[in-house]
Amino acid sequence: MKILLADKFNDAFEARLRELGEVSTSLEEIADVDVLVVRSKTKVTKDLIARARRLGLVIRGGVGLDNVDAAACRERGIQVRNTPAASSVAVAELAMTLMLAAANRVVFAHNEIASGRFPKKDVKRVELGGKTLGLIGAGLIGQAVAARAAAFGMKVIAYDPFVKRCEAASLVGSAADLYRAAAVLSLHAPLNDETRGMLGRAAIVSMKDGVIVVNTARGELVDEQAMAEALVSGKVRAYAADVFHSEPPSGSPLLSAPNTVFTPHVGASTAENMTRIGDIVVEILSNWGRAG
Ligand code: NAD
Repeated sequence: MKILLADKFNDAFEARLRELGEVSTSLEEIADVDVLVVRSKTKVTKDLIARARRLGLVIRGGVGLDNVDAAACRERGIQVRNTPAASSVAVAELAMTLMLAAANRVVFAHNEIASGRFPKKDVKRVELGGKTLGLIGAGLIGQAVAARAAAFGMKVIAYDPFVKRCEAASLVGSAADLYRAAAVLSLHAPLNDETRGMLGRAAIVSMKDGVIVVNTARGELVDEQAMAEALVSGKVRAYAADVFHSEPPSGSPLLSAPNTVFTPHVGASTAENMTRIGDIVVEILSNWGRAG
């Protein structure tokens, strides 16, 4: 079996793949491989698939499939798999990290001190305890965030049109209800036609003044221009994001906006999760190899 490992996982993973077949890492080889393994960077487009003469399986090590043209794969009879359950703890811990960093102005404080200042009066912190956290999306990651936020003493509410019961959060009937009530908002919905740009001007205006917004889902859920303006006006107290419209986000209006905390799309990238994802990909490949 010829495997094309198009994105970086970790060295141990590549060695494990070599036990299952011949591994290449260059997309130039796409014509002759049986399996394509990607994370987020490689876009599995219709054009790429058209160049793949033997491809039978695409595996995305990660949650969403928004970088894979699954319809084009189906048309060609190519199976598509991902690892939906692996990343919940890793992403939930990053969402909590960003939430705490935003509420406590940690990045600002660090940068000031590293520049030789000691701005005690400018580091105005707020507590998460006692605040209402609103989750958009109550799936695996949303629920993992809910459990952690509850341990911080937050009241957790969630909007999710497809979930009927949620143990760690009270479900509300609309996104508007969520925006009205939440002091902190955390995004955990997939990117699709419904969610693209859902945090635009109208949504932001309807939120509580001084809301903190955390985005570990997808950059395109948020109108970055509207968010930058809301940070300048103070409507939004802080925006903490792991994901952006384009990555790296060069030219994004968010880069010059105040009160931001950014990480470079590393929600799934813990050492433990890379091992977990690797285990699942190897299992998928082994079963597929046996079936083939
Ligand atoms: P999941 O499928 O378990 O949960 C997503 C939830 O969103 C579902 O319950 C679904 O019903 C809900 N949803 C769908 N449309 C909605 C809408 N219009 N409004 C509100 N909720 C809606 O997925 P998950 O594992 O919890 O992951 C959530 C998202 O996190 C993924 O789709 C992915 O984009 C993102 N993610 C980011 C990283 C990262 O590195 N930052 C890593 C993994 C996942």
